[in-house]
Order: sequence, then structure tokens, then C-alpha cells
Amino acid sequence: MLLTFLDFPSRTRPVLGAGSVDRVGELANELGAKHVLLVTDAGIVAAGHAARVEGNLVAAGLRVTVFDKARENPTTKCVDDCVAVAKAAGIDTIVGLGGGSSMDTAKGCNFILTNGGRMQDYRGVGKATKPMLPFIAIPTTAGTGSEMQSAALIADEQTHQKMACLDPKCAARIAILDPELTLSQPPRVTACTGIDAVGHAVETAVSTKRNELSQMLSREAFRLCIGALPEVFKNPYDLDSRARMQVGAAYAGAAIENSMLGAAHAVANPLTAHHGIVHGHAVGLMLPHVVRFNAVETSARAAYVTLAVEAGIVAASESPERAVEALVLRLGKLLELAGLPDALSKLGINRNSLPALAKEAAQQWTAAFNPRPMVATDFARLFSEAWEGI
Ligand SMILES: [Zn+2]
Repeated sequence: MLLTFLDFPSRTRPVLGAGSVDRVGELANELGAKHVLLVTDAGIVAAGHAARVEGNLVAAGLRVTVFDKARENPTTKCVDDCVAVAKAAGIDTIVGLGGGSSMDTAKGCNFILTNGGRMQDYRGVGKATKPMLPFIAIPTTAGTGSEMQSAALIADEQTHQKMACLDPKCAARIAILDPELTLSQPPRVTACTGIDAVGHAVETAVSTKRNELSQMLSREAFRLCIGALPEVFKNPYDLDSRARMQVGAAYAGAAIENSMLGAAHAVANPLTAHHGIVHGHAVGLMLPHVVRFNAVETSARAAYVTLAVEAGIVAASESPERAVEALVLRLGKLLELAGLPDALSKLGINRNSLPALAKEAAQQWTAAFNPRPMVATDFARLFSEAWEGI
């Protein structure tokens, strides 16, 4: 791999620390804000985080308009509702507070507010022509890494098809990573988002788009998350483990921005769409099988071995085959620790439905970046193995 051709955008400034959410007013002022739109959801309001952020912004001399109707897997209608509130208020800066859905809603709103039209117009890469408003992301989960990415994932209200709208202009200028905010996540959300972050680290480490710098982020993200997540399961109020998860998830998000994902995300998506399996759980179920599948490819195997050795899962003297197998087992262990079913058969999925899932997975764009090229029978094989379990 040649560094000569490296183009490594880092558009988002991460600001980390317990209590750093209380810097939001100061940071918004730095960006020249006068009137802020705070995009969040009802759960975050109930947890008291929205009032804390709003209070801090007001104390910093800013006007605040709140949109608290972000929903899971936000749709074009959700974005339109947010845009209507933003337009009526005449805001000049956006703060997104919550999980990936609040981030996506905030980014989607920024597209339409500044560039007009509808979300469908921005599907793909770089379709927006005008500058966007300054955006500050404050994640309350440690998982999606959306705070470090220039993509808005919005579902079509009619077809429910998810559209990826990528544009460097929609990336957050600042991401406030305050681990205190992640303490309020329900255990299942902690588990699924945390496993998703591990999946991002592993998939970006081997994707065909990876480069030297994205691999550094992937490796550090993996080392942080694979160590911290079991600690978080044991003691959910340990702020240090929560901080390592949050930084790891942000690094993994920054790695995605530069190297895309792989087959585990391609096979996870139909499981979510047709069987309602939460994204991070679906990724965690499929990932060990994808690692085994990809490890046949020499450079992917070497990258997996590096992940396993640097995270202390195996000694550097171990054979590559055993190192990969140790990695596979450690990934599977996460589901067990989280109390999540670790085989498709345990989720009541009929074996007869696997061919249809495989067909759909083959059409997912992330599969194109998998280090080992995949044909239709490979998708079927992965589902079949995941049905049996590790
Ligand atoms: Zn994911």
C-alpha cells in the first residue's frame, strides 16, 4: 500500500472528557452560532440530557429551538418535520444529541435546509452544491461512529429503503465525546451498539479501501473496544471503560469514513430488515463467520492476526491460523457476555428462509469492499454457518 496516494480527511474535531458536554455553549459560540436547533429524541429528553444541553447553550447567550422527535431508523418524513421546525425558527447552527438516529436526522435536516429539494436528491456521494450549517454532534451511545462520518442514512417514507447520502459538508465540525452521557443507555443498547463498534473496527481493518492511517484507527478502535466492552458489561457505571468504548467507537467511525465496511454489514442488513434483529446484534452474529471466510485471503489474515496480537488476545508467537481462530472465538464471546443469541437457529429463523436472505445480502453495497470477493454461494454459506453457530 502506498502512502503516496493518501488523501485522509479529518473534518471533525473530537472533544473528549467526562463532563465535556458542558462545553457545548462555548464551542457553539466558537462556530459563530446565534440560534441553535437541538435535534434529539424523547428518550434523551427523559434522561435529562436535552435540558442539560439546552441550559448550557442558553447560559452561553444562545437562542435554542428543540426538535425532539427523532425516531429510530429516521425516514424522509422525520427529516421534513425537522426542517419545518428549523425553517420556522430561523436557526443558524445544528446540535445533534442522541444515538445514530438523532445524528442522521440532524444531518438530513442540514441537507434540505441549506440545499433544498428532498433527501432522494442527495442519495450517493457529494450531491449537495451549497455549504451547510455548522453541526455539533453529541453521541449518547458508543457504537455507530456517526459523529465522525459524513453520511446521513435516511429511509424513504414510502418504500422504507435506506438511502445513504454522503457529503463531506454534512460532517460534524465538532464531536463532543462525554462518557457520562453513555451511562443512561439501557443494557441492551449498550451491548448492541458496542458490538457494532467492534464490527466497524474489524471490518474497516481489512476492507479493500483501507489505507495506513485508517488501519491505525481500526486497530486502536479494536484494542479499546474489545478490552472495554466486557468491563462495561460487568460494571456499567465504570466511567473509564465507558470512555474507552466511546473513543473506540469514534475511531472506528473515522475509519469507516476512510475505508468503508465489509461483508458482515452486507449480511447483517437483511436480518434487520426481515427479522427485526437489531443492527449491532446482527453484525455480531455474522462477524465471526465473515472473519473465518476472509482469513483465506493472505493480507486479510495478516490484518486479523495484528488485531488479535495488539489487543492481547494471542501471543505474537502463535500461528496465524490459531490467532484467527482465537479472534473468532473472542468475537463470539461478546454475544454470550451480552446474553444475546449467537446463532440464527436460536432466533427462530427458518432454515428455508436463508436463500432469500443471501440473495438480498448480495445486493448490499458494503459487500463490494470485502477483502475476499464474494459470489452468491458465499452469502448462502455465511448464513448457513451462522444458523448453526460458531
Ligand atoms: Zn454497523
